[in-house]
Amino acid sequence: MGNGIQMANISDTDIGLFISDFGMRILDLVSQIAVRNRKWEIMLLDPFRRKINYLRISITDRCNLRCRYCMPEEGIPLIPHEEILTYEEILRIVRVFATEGISKVRLTGGEPLVRKGIVDFVSRLSQIEEIKDLSLTTNGILLKEFAHDLKKAGLRRINISLDSLTKERFCQITRKDDFERVWAGIEEALRVGLFPIKINMVAIQGLNDDEIESFARLTLHLPLIIRYIEYMPSGNGEEWKESDILTIPRIKDRLERVGKLIPIPSGRWDGPAKRFRIEGALGEIGLIGPVSSHFCDDCNRLRLTPDGKIRTCLFSDEEIDVKELLRNGGSDQDLKERLLVALREKPERHPIHTQHFKKCQRNMSAIGG
Ligand code: SAM
Repeated sequence: MGNGIQMANISDTDIGLFISDFGMRILDLVSQIAVRNRKWEIMLLDPFRRKINYLRISITDRCNLRCRYCMPEEGIPLIPHEEILTYEEILRIVRVFATEGISKVRLTGGEPLVRKGIVDFVSRLSQIEEIKDLSLTTNGILLKEFAHDLKKAGLRRINISLDSLTKERFCQITRKDDFERVWAGIEEALRVGLFPIKINMVAIQGLNDDEIESFARLTLHLPLIIRYIEYMPSGNGEEWKESDILTIPRIKDRLERVGKLIPIPSGRWDGPAKRFRIEGALGEIGLIGPVSSHFCDDCNRLRLTPDGKIRTCLFSDEEIDVKELLRNGGSDQDLKERLLVALREKPERHPIHTQHFKKCQRNMSAIGG
């Protein structure tokens, strides 16, 4: 793409101007300024013209569960404390990236609620003007204690991971007897008004597939969004087999036994989930098929690991180091340029179905899922 200004055909509501690499050393990368609702908006575009506006930050690799599909009972080697980004460092990264077009941030882990000082950190993040959507993914164990303070600190919405609605099965999957604490956390999140509350269920053949309908029935009377996620080949947990995946089409068939599925159009902040409502239900259903349906064309995200590496794709071990830069006096401009390098490195597609595919080296708990 050459220098200069070009009209971009982004969507019906956007009038875009590409401003290409004015003095940028990195060719092929462009920032885009668009007019949306009469406001100028800066956008990051990768070489495949995907708009990248979402940063998923794993703030710790520590977790208080040992889910079988994620890690072994004894845990995995932990990142030394001094290698983990401080909150101050993460805030600086977010502030700089936000000026470049990152407007959506999700905190994850490990388990983000086990990291000390999380409420104050959320409060500081929520004050970054350009961040329009701030969310957090948790296993819910500590949510009853934190929900109120997180909401007060500016958290808008929350995702809670839960793979079973029975105490025994929960215990079998997570190796911890904490189902009641998680459920109390969900109730508290509802009570304090976090909204929306999304429950993420990883559906695994032969493990919890018999609970698909019971999860869906929760939406009939509660304003919850139940999201079914395909089991992905990742992590250091029990061996992943393709036959364990319950594909989205199969999940959908099962959901239709509960009631008629009415499609809901995607909103601006929606990720790759296909949204539905069971006729008459208060809540919603979301279907996320990272394995069966490539949604790479719409991928809008980058990930930041606890030790300060940007990952461009969940399934790629390509990492761009920003911690080294931060700790060696790098300027904000240097950080911006690292961001652009990450953008350039973002693969067009994940390699799951190709012969080159191998499980990524980092565990999901150190990437953030
Ligand atoms: N501790 C938090 C939680 O439980 O939500 C955040 C981290 S956890 C790694 C994030 C999500 O990744 C969870 O919903 C978990 O179920 C999901 N996950 C982990 N391994 C997975 C896999 N192999 N396939 C699909 N989802 C997975």
